[in-house]
Amino acid sequence: MGYIIKGEKHNWELVIGLEVHAQVISKAKLFSGSSTDFGGGPNTQVSFIDAGMPGMLPVLNGHAVEQAVKTGLGLKAKINRRSVFARKNYFYADMPQGYQISQYDQPIVGEGTLVLDMPDGSLREIGIERLHLEQDAGKSIHDLHPHKSYIDLNRSGIPLMEIVSKPDIRTPEEAGIYLKKLRSILRYLGTCDGNMEEGSMRCDANVSVRPVGSTELRTRCEIKNVNSVRFVMQAIEYEARRQVDCYESGGTVDQETRLYDSNKGETRSMRSKEFAHDYRYFPDPDLLPIEFDEAFVTRLQGALPELPDDKLARFTKDFGLTAYDAGVLVAEKENAEYFEEVAKGCDPKLAANWVITNLFGVLNKRGVEIGDSPVSAKNLGRLIELISDNTISSRMAKEVFEAMVETGKTPDAIVEERGMKQITDTGAIDAAVDKIIAENADKVAQYKSGKVQMLGWFVGQVMKATQGKANPAMCSDALKKKLDA
Ligand code: MN
Repeated sequence: MGYIIKGEKHNWELVIGLEVHAQVISKAKLFSGSSTDFGGGPNTQVSFIDAGMPGMLPVLNGHAVEQAVKTGLGLKAKINRRSVFARKNYFYADMPQGYQISQYDQPIVGEGTLVLDMPDGSLREIGIERLHLEQDAGKSIHDLHPHKSYIDLNRSGIPLMEIVSKPDIRTPEEAGIYLKKLRSILRYLGTCDGNMEEGSMRCDANVSVRPVGSTELRTRCEIKNVNSVRFVMQAIEYEARRQVDCYESGGTVDQETRLYDSNKGETRSMRSKEFAHDYRYFPDPDLLPIEFDEAFVTRLQGALPELPDDKLARFTKDFGLTAYDAGVLVAEKENAEYFEEVAKGCDPKLAANWVITNLFGVLNKRGVEIGDSPVSAKNLGRLIELISDNTISSRMAKEVFEAMVETGKTPDAIVEERGMKQITDTGAIDAAVDKIIAENADKVAQYKSGKVQMLGWFVGQVMKATQGKANPAMCSDALKKKLDA
């Protein structure tokens, strides 16, 4: 089982913990009223607070606090009734305060759980260590001028949730599944849009290796700010091999921060622990502790949407879907909602099949989200009804579906226009069958002499004679009856 790196001295396993910085969906920043909109002109969304002007006092954004608590509840985590903001002191040009307001030993959310749906159908529970609220820093831009750097403070003060997993992850694949699942939960909750390209979800990976069977935790390296799921997986894979090579050749691994270079596919040392910061955390004297009463948490708990795990359970139980199909459908809330709309009046398994295979195929090809689907859920549901009630065959349905994609028309209109109604009239089918049998005495003889696989050929001939409109199952039945008579 698992992911093992074979060496000369040992077989090695991976120990991975992930820290995700997730940008809170909020109109205003964590401690000021400035806008958090992405893509504004440089330094156009900066208040005195965000610029670190002396004498300014932070005012906590209550909505951001609710978002963090909602996220904690979605991760089945302990919501701490009292938490404290702390100053994390360090200097950086894009952080004019000289410290980041974060949380240290009293975070807003404590231990929780995230369940990974593994490809083999099994479940893996990964512990959540904590979630805390903190402000983002500004952005340094080094590539606009040959010897100057620019600072954009629009991002300064934007609310972030730092979500820290326990070191429970054992393979690059699990890390990828963890990130996708976390992203899915955040999007269901509406607390983070999960957009890694725009930086609203950024991942740091803590990686160490140890001989299989050992329970020790060896020195770990932290790979900073990886911005796609695929790169996180690649970075972990590279880093684990690098550490195994160090140990196998008699060396040691230094605790350090590394960067992943996605062009070269390798991690590189950024700073070693020798130069590690002592952040001198202390409670921020400008901010009171956050305290909740039971009613506040109960209210948010009651308002939680159905989350992916519950939806998946319901889809498998109520609709009889496989865990795999249900998993594909629930990953994005909008897809799940679309599917449920389709499945309202028709066979849910058929609906799942059409959504996953045909509709997602078209969306992928066009590079659009389900919100911009050329086929409405109502129309797709109707198409499936037409298959189920034998108005059209599955083969015809593919043609109708293509026409729906091209024209946006209803399936009924397309079936009508193209005269595609399936022939289910036994009289008409019998007539066609009789004609084919009469015209092909030699083939009939072959069939009767034991070549029963000839039946397929006969069905094909009847379908051809009816321009593909005959119901294939009915043709087959009628042919068998007559040929075996
Ligand atoms: Mn952080």
